[in-house]
Amino acid sequence: MLDRLLSQTAGYIDQYAILPILYHFGWMEWDDLSFDWALICVYGLLAVLLTYAICWPLEAWRPVEHWPTKKTVATDIFYTLLNRVGVIPIFSFLLFYQVQVLFTATLTDYRFIPPTLETIIPPLFGHPIITFLAYALILDFADYWRHRLSHSFRAWYALHALHHAQRQMSFWSDDRNHIFDDLISFLWFFTIGLAIGIPPPPPPPPPLLPQFLESLSHANVKLSFGPLGERLLISPRFHRRHHAIAAAGRKSCNYGAVFPYWDILFKTADFSRQYHPTGDPKSPESLATGTYLQQQLTGAKLFAKSLSR
Ligand SMILES: [Zn+2]
Ligand SMILES: [Zn+2]
Repeated sequence: MLDRLLSQTAGYIDQYAILPILYHFGWMEWDDLSFDWALICVYGLLAVLLTYAICWPLEAWRPVEHWPTKKTVATDIFYTLLNRVGVIPIFSFLLFYQVQVLFTATLTDYRFIPPTLETIIPPLFGHPIITFLAYALILDFADYWRHRLSHSFRAWYALHALHHAQRQMSFWSDDRNHIFDDLISFLWFFTIGLAIGIPPPPPPPPPLLPQFLESLSHANVKLSFGPLGERLLISPRFHRRHHAIAAAGRKSCNYGAVFPYWDILFKTADFSRQYHPTGDPKSPESLATGTYLQQQLTGAKLFAKSLSR
């Protein structure tokens, strides 16, 4: 039912907004993908609205911090819309699709069938739920190391500092990243996706639940999931500890995105009960309170400077 409504909406957007533009510029070769683009936007917008409907009341109920103005939150809203509804998901979908088709075709030419998790681990055949969980765990493990390494290399942290500079951290802050940092993440998951055979192409809907949990973990709310729950899924309190002023930079903790298991396993977990103020005092003010463009520009300059050191 909801699926049909979303497809219909995407159909209208495709017919009345995207296709006319494609025809106008003579880009007809994209017209069999344009419906998927519209569907990505529609699903993305729905996900943002659902996140808002759940996280906003939570933040109003038990906020960690009260802010006189919320100017920098507005910038984070822009990041979220750009990343989840706007051009970036379309771009990454398109790129993944193109490269995966090419990759599969090249491998098949050499009579090599690209791997999937089931061909790598045969007992998974016929167990779709376990396979899904295995994919989720592998991707989460990869994300733990991506994030941990982004704190370990000076140049990489110069980009990631943008995410940590926010002193008004809210459920909108998850997508506040430098575009080069997003690009590295994309390549990181792209390579892993090809290696373990994420089914082609990642069809909409996008992974709604992990994205929701990542937004929630940034929320300005006094919320943990209890001593056991917090060890099963990452809570706002756990991720706030990662954003704490004292944890900014090279020596941080709580790198996980969805599951805290890797932090527990590699001894980087901190389940302390305080709700810390967030931010990175070493980063320039424009990373914290600048406009989107100022933040991107400052991030690029810091990155270039750290490379030339
Ligand atoms: Zn970080
Ligand atoms: Zn974060």
